[in-house]
Amino acid sequence: MREKIQSLCDGLVTEDVQSECAYFAQVYEKSLEVLSAAQRIGQGRQLSAKLLCNLIKAGFEATKIALIPPAADEVRIFDISVGRLPDIDILFAIGVHDGVWPARDSGTGILSAAEQDVLRGLGLDLGGYDLAEEKMKVYTALTQPKERLYISYNAQTGQPSVVADRIQRLFPLIKKTKVPAAAATGLFEDVLGELAQVLRGKEADADLAGVCAHFLADPQWRKQTRAILLRTNAALTLPEDTARRLCGVMRCSPTRIENFYRCPFKHFIDYGIKAQVLRDYEYDRLDIGTYLHLALDIFTQSLITEKKDLKELSAEQTQCRMQAAAHLAAQQHDNGKLLADERFALIHKQLVRELADTALRIRVHFLGSEASLHASEVAFEYVVDAQGCSTVITGKIDRIDTAGGYFRVVDYKSSAAKFDPDAFAAGTALQLPVYIDAARRLPAQQGLSPAGGYYVRIGEKYHDSAVKAQREGRMNGLSLADTKVLCAFSSVQEGGSFSAIDQSLKKSGELHGRGAAKFFTANELYALLCTAQRMIASAAVQIYSGVTDINPAGSEACKMCDYAGICQINPEYEGNAYRVPERFEKAQLRREGA
Ligand code: SF4
Repeated sequence: MREKIQSLCDGLVTEDVQSECAYFAQVYEKSLEVLSAAQRIGQGRQLSAKLLCNLIKAGFEATKIALIPPAADEVRIFDISVGRLPDIDILFAIGVHDGVWPARDSGTGILSAAEQDVLRGLGLDLGGYDLAEEKMKVYTALTQPKERLYISYNAQTGQPSVVADRIQRLFPLIKKTKVPAAAATGLFEDVLGELAQVLRGKEADADLAGVCAHFLADPQWRKQTRAILLRTNAALTLPEDTARRLCGVMRCSPTRIENFYRCPFKHFIDYGIKAQVLRDYEYDRLDIGTYLHLALDIFTQSLITEKKDLKELSAEQTQCRMQAAAHLAAQQHDNGKLLADERFALIHKQLVRELADTALRIRVHFLGSEASLHASEVAFEYVVDAQGCSTVITGKIDRIDTAGGYFRVVDYKSSAAKFDPDAFAAGTALQLPVYIDAARRLPAQQGLSPAGGYYVRIGEKYHDSAVKAQREGRMNGLSLADTKVLCAFSSVQEGGSFSAIDQSLKKSGELHGRGAAKFFTANELYALLCTAQRMIASAAVQIYSGVTDINPAGSEACKMCDYAGICQINPEYEGNAYRVPERFEKAQLRREGA
């Protein structure tokens, strides 16, 4: 059959359809390759029509056809990974960027290296990345032109490939020329950017006038450019009644207030118009976070209810109790999905390991101290009043511990979290002060004074060395500057470090100055809680007044934001400034707490 087709094809080849013949010959070859790959995959079992169809579709999608310039004096555009390059006079190699020339390994897709090994072991041909082959493609392409070779890259979009540097070193006399970005790309946006800079006082690039003259040939350009360059991008303040209707009576967690301080415009989109970013369904971190919190709650509650002291449990007993709690939580969480669906078996195993490690770490926080578990998952709500803008602050404190007439609040985090005083001053780290304040108001805490608030990271130990793991496993947060109280909550190791918190004592027994920014006297702590309240009140007043400014707390705030395409933030525009928050001033607290 194959020979028959081949002889038929041979009979059809004439000079005027040579390039089509070459093209269809490749199509034919590639089709056979795809079909035989599908056959290899299905070997020994019956494939459903749908699976077979999907396999063939995937094969064709991955297939590339090389196009050969059939005649002289032609301009051809091709990708070096598929092009065969006979008889080239001049080659313009464009986009000669790092990771492209030669191409970088684009990853293994959905298969891990171990899974690939298993599949290869079963005889499947998975293809694969070959750096030597990539280098050969580059070499072949760059050595083809008979007369000239031009190499170019856009310095604004990435680093040049090492190829450019090597060629320059081989031929030091080669002239390197730089083309202004706007002229190089010819992009409308680049020219606008340049013009905007000139309007703000920057000296115009020598080529800008020429490039503008080119654009001016388009009658629409002047109109469009004027409209864009002379506009502002400031967000409008909502009319107060609209803002109030959007907010209702604000009942929110400290996270919402932090979000407002992070960016009022993002806050408006999230909580005002309640936009939802479309996401694919997946068993994401939010679900996992809920499961981990539930397991830790069951673990802590059972100890409190049974009046068991965590310090008196052995490491093995602690692990066993946590594993049992993790199993119970898996049954209760999301209709037992973690147990019922075998796709989650691996992840579940990993989570149980992380929980067991976390429980061991929590046990270490208590060993040798007077502290005991007091409460778990404590719901709270209190009202913050500000110029008629009442706000109900609600939330749940993961854990409260007590020792010697004091309490500390603990919040579990799946990622590393630290109390940063400057972030507090910026309004983006209010959680711990709010939780301490909330716990202080709870009837069960009456008669107890706050000793601090801390984050505990959930997860496996992060270091091989036991000493490092212990150091990194300590809680991080803010503390009452009272050695006696802190020693009641945590044992102190040789060298002066606390076992439970990332603070230490000097040889003299005083608190070490390293962590001074996170130590507060009782008065300072009280002033800190009052400051947090004032910040909540101020945010509430602004939210109720319709403030929706595009004014994020530094460019960091925009990095994880989904709405850059909506707000179109550009600090060059009026009304789009990054906020530079004031730094934390302890002296101010001292004055207020006095
Ligand atoms: S991208 Fe930045 S400015 Fe725009 S909404 Fe997000 S945080 Fe605010």
